[in-house]
Amino acid sequence: MAEVNSNYNKLAAGYLFPEIARRTREFQEKNPDKVLKKLGIGNTTEALTPTVVEGLIRGVNKLADPATYSGYGDEQGKLELRQVLSGYYDSKGIELSPGDFFISDGAKPDSSNIQSIFSPDSVIAVQDPAYPVYVDSNIIAGRSGNYSAKKGEYEGLIYMPCTEENNFFPSIPEKRADLIYLCSPNNPTGAAATHKQLKIFVDYARKNKSVIIFDAAYCEYISDPSLPKSIFEIEGAKECALEINSLSKFAGFTGVRLGWTVVPEELVVEGTKPGEVRNMWYRRQCTFFNGASNIVQEGALAVFSDDGLKESRNLVNYYMENTKIIMRGVKDVGLTYYGGVNAPYIWLKTPDGISSWDFFDKLLSETGVIGTPGSGFGPGGEGYFRLSAFGHREDIEAAVESIKENLNI
Ligand SMILES: *Cc1c(COP(=O)(O)O)cnc(C)c1O
Repeated sequence: MAEVNSNYNKLAAGYLFPEIARRTREFQEKNPDKVLKKLGIGNTTEALTPTVVEGLIRGVNKLADPATYSGYGDEQGKLELRQVLSGYYDSKGIELSPGDFFISDGAKPDSSNIQSIFSPDSVIAVQDPAYPVYVDSNIIAGRSGNYSAKKGEYEGLIYMPCTEENNFFPSIPEKRADLIYLCSPNNPTGAAATHKQLKIFVDYARKNKSVIIFDAAYCEYISDPSLPKSIFEIEGAKECALEINSLSKFAGFTGVRLGWTVVPEELVVEGTKPGEVRNMWYRRQCTFFNGASNIVQEGALAVFSDDGLKESRNLVNYYMENTKIIMRGVKDVGLTYYGGVNAPYIWLKTPDGISSWDFFDKLLSETGVIGTPGSGFGPGGEGYFRLSAFGHREDIEAAVESIKENLNI
């Protein structure tokens, strides 16, 4: 008799965004005249830039001509794109070979799939709060006990608290962890790790033969030039870390879909020689994935052209201007907030210590603004609330105006 993978039943009930949608719908039905303003889901809103559009069209036109048509490509991604990425990291002083890059359809799929090349017995450590996919992919793979609703935690996982006291970057785990997920700049807290903070984790990972899975999806949002944009800026990281990134937040590819994972040849785990972990990910991709879209890879090449980079940085600046508008607004009303400076997320502390969901309801009913309850990102997010700077300027301004005029605190 067939049975489902019962690990799915362990997933904590009520995924965050459907619950937000439900409460929003209910509010809108009761208040049909209220205009809602969304500072919720981290989804890009501005159009692709002209150079990128040209690149995508070039990709389509190649397919229209039998002389340039291509079908399945290299599972690892076009060599030209991997060379360009290798060159881009080189421009930041990081030496990686094109063979270390694996082009994919995004950072979320890669960050959920990467665990499959490691032992089922691996002990997982995550930042708390964290982007939910790191935890959920490991729950489904069977690396946890049950969910405790009381603690808001899964048994068997190591939660590394990110709090006001530690500037939202954790200390190394007290127990031994095999796979350590780090995201910087962080979704949801907006905190960006320093060189020194990452070095402590790299040293820990080398000593314990752990692997750091580093999500750099927001690295282009770093405005402080002293902060590392890649884990590979840290000495020794190639032996103990892999990095996941994408064009979603840099170039508005959330719907276009293109990401990459860097598995350096040097990365080793217990019992492997250099190159073997990298081969394992190659094997996984060849088995389960048939390569990123050839059209989209042309678009990605365009992102890394001189004009493409300039335009993409302008796009980032647009969202970061939104961030400043939100920060000014919440500061004006006297709310305590973190993040924002090196990330498109503002991490609000809820007023008077009310719960994240109570603040969600309060903000929605008083101002019509929709944000994301911090508790949806893990128990450490309770008492916090995420505002996203992805939005059209006029919508961001309207949301901030409404907070300033209508929020009762
Ligand atoms: C948005 C986001 C990504 C990007 O995922 P894609 O699948 O590339 O769109 C990855 N990690 C984090 C933390 C994110 O917020």
